[in-house]
Amino acid sequence: MPTKLRGAPAILIKSPKSTILLDCGEGTQNRIINIGIGIQKIDLIAITHMHGDHVFGLLPLLHTLSNISQTPKLRIMGPKTLKDFIEENIKLTLIKNIDIEFTRPSNELCLSDLRIKGFEVDHGMESYGYIIEFAKAEKKLKVNELIKAGIPRRYWPQIKRGKKVTIDGKTFDPSDFVEIRNRKIVYSGDTKPIANTIRAAYNAKVLIHEATFTSRLKNEAEISNHSTALDAAKIALEANAEVLILTHISARYPDPYEHLYESRRVFRNTFVAEDYDYYIVM
Ligand SMILES: [Zn+2]
Ligand SMILES: [Zn+2]
Repeated sequence: MPTKLRGAPAILIKSPKSTILLDCGEGTQNRIINIGIGIQKIDLIAITHMHGDHVFGLLPLLHTLSNISQTPKLRIMGPKTLKDFIEENIKLTLIKNIDIEFTRPSNELCLSDLRIKGFEVDHGMESYGYIIEFAKAEKKLKVNELIKAGIPRRYWPQIKRGKKVTIDGKTFDPSDFVEIRNRKIVYSGDTKPIANTIRAAYNAKVLIHEATFTSRLKNEAEISNHSTALDAAKIALEANAEVLILTHISARYPDPYEHLYESRRVFRNTFVAEDYDYYIVM
């Protein structure tokens, strides 16, 4: 439920070449306009499940897209009934001209420089979380190791390209000095705490996990197939994630300090997402 301070779910993932919108609750379009990103820049909208707070912002976006572009194209990923929901509404509200490509979350989709795949979560209905990674593995030099081994800086580009270098008769293997950069982002969508999320979020750089309630309202979390801040923290810990961002906070918590306190006792590197917050994944 939107409050004065918090809107419905929507998370924008931006890389140098791709833009993905995860969920599209009421008011998403206005927030995208407020942060200065063109609606037509969105390559993919991935929806976690069909509850209204995650999809009711779609139609205004589609309407705008059909007005600003001659041949708008959009990729949409999500549950089975999402296609019907969009097609019926486009027909009834006379939105025209959009070329929409629907993909099921079980299929991995590659955009210019990102790839995304869904995984099943448990929210009492067809629901998914999403894993987003760079399409190509990014190489990163182990600078400290290079310095320790006394390899002059002019050889570093060669090593990064995977070439062996020989200095004063000694040969160095690039695999000792290059690591694969990890910038995996995992979004849980709405779900109860489940092992599938731990698997999906294994070694994630950032886990964005729902924490609708805290343990004080654990019963309600169980009844409504949601998670508490403590559940999310345990999942981040077991998955060995680096950062945990809590989202989907119930309107019953005007201030999320309770979430933060509960989660940080188990998983120190926790943040609570507020509207318009951004996090740079290094
Ligand atoms: Zn839901
Ligand atoms: Zn929800």
